[in-house]
Amino acid sequence: METITGRILITGALGQIGTELSTALAEIYGKDKVIMSDVREASDVPLTFEKLDVLDLEAFRSIIDKHEVKVVYHLASLLSGTSEKNPSLAWRLNIDPLLFLCNLAKDRIIDQIFWPSSIAVFGRGIPKENVGQEVPLNPSTVYGITKLAGEKWCEYYYRNYGADIRSIRYPGLISWKAPAGGGTTDYAVEIYHKALEEGRYTSFIAENTAMPMLYMDDAIAATIRLMQAPSEALSVRTSYNLGGMSFTPKQLAAAIRQEIPGFEITYAPDFRQAIAESWPASIDDSVARKDWGLAYWYNIDSMTRGMLENLRVKAS
Ligand code: NAD
Repeated sequence: METITGRILITGALGQIGTELSTALAEIYGKDKVIMSDVREASDVPLTFEKLDVLDLEAFRSIIDKHEVKVVYHLASLLSGTSEKNPSLAWRLNIDPLLFLCNLAKDRIIDQIFWPSSIAVFGRGIPKENVGQEVPLNPSTVYGITKLAGEKWCEYYYRNYGADIRSIRYPGLISWKAPAGGGTTDYAVEIYHKALEEGRYTSFIAENTAMPMLYMDDAIAATIRLMQAPSEALSVRTSYNLGGMSFTPKQLAAAIRQEIPGFEITYAPDFRQAIAESWPASIDDSVARKDWGLAYWYNIDSMTRGMLENLRVKAS
C-alpha cells in the first residue's frame, strides 16, 4: 500500500468516474484515506461518505478541515448534454468550486487537485483527425466553454502560485458500473445495455460520426498515473490530451455483433449530433505519453467483451 499525507476527497463520487476512481484509490492508499462525497444521498458505499453540494463552499471547507484532506479529485460537474439546457448553472457549478479549490491550493491548505477537462474544449479551426495538444481552442458548447475556462484557471494558479493542479481532457468514457451522466458520448454506454436487454439500439449519434472514447479501466489508470508523476515531469498545466480509441456507432455495432450476432442498430440523431460534429474524431496524446507514461490496455474488441461480460454478471 502506498503512503500519502492527509486524506483524499472525491467530489461527485457517485458518478460514472467517481464510483470506480474511489475504489481504485482506496486499493492503493487504504480505505481510511479516501472520502467520497456527492450532492446525492449514498446508499451502500464502501468508504466514508459525506453528502456535499460543492456550491456550498462553507460546507466544502468544513469537510476538508474535518478529514484533513490534502488531495481533491474534483469530479462534480454538469455534463455536456445537461449544460446546454442550463447554461448559468453549468457555469457556476463547473467553475466556482474549482476556483475555490485553486485558492486552497494557493494557500497550501491542500497539496494537490485533480480536475477533469474534456475533448469539448475543441471546436472550429482545427483538423478533425489527430488533434494535437497545442491547437486553437474554440468550444462551441456551454460545457466546452466552462472546461476551457477551468483549464485556464488551473494553469494560472500553477504559473502564479505554484498550485499543483493536474488535468486530463477525457474523451467519452465507457463503463458498466454506473450509468452515464448526460454526455454526448453516452450512446457508447447505452448501446451495451440495450444490446443485452433488447438486442437492438437506436443511436442518437449518426452512424459514421467518429469520436474519441476510452474504457473506464484505462481512464482510471491514466488519472492515477498522472497524479503520481513527479511535478517537474509535467509540461502541460492546462490539461493533457487523451486520445483513447476512435470509432463510429457503426463500428461499435459491428464489434457488438461479434458477441451478439443478431444485434441491430438504427439511427435517430438528436441535438447531441451537432455537439459531436463540433468535436475532433481523433486526438494526438503523444505529450502525455512522453511526460508521464500514458498507456492503454483496451481496444474496441476487448472493451466490448469486458462490457458485455460485466453487464451480464451484474444483471444475474
Ligand atoms: P457524472 O454525471 O456521472 O457524475 C457527476 C456527479 O456529480 C454525480 O454523481 C452528481 O450527483 C454529482 N454532482 C452534480 N452536482 C453536484 C453538486 N452541486 N455537488 C456535488 N456533486 C454534484 O459525471 P462523470 O462522467 O463521472 O464525470 C466526472 C467529471 O469528468 C466531470 O467533470 C466531467 O465533466 C468529466 N468528464 C467526463 C466524461 C465522461 O465521458 N464521463 C468525459 C469528459 C470529462
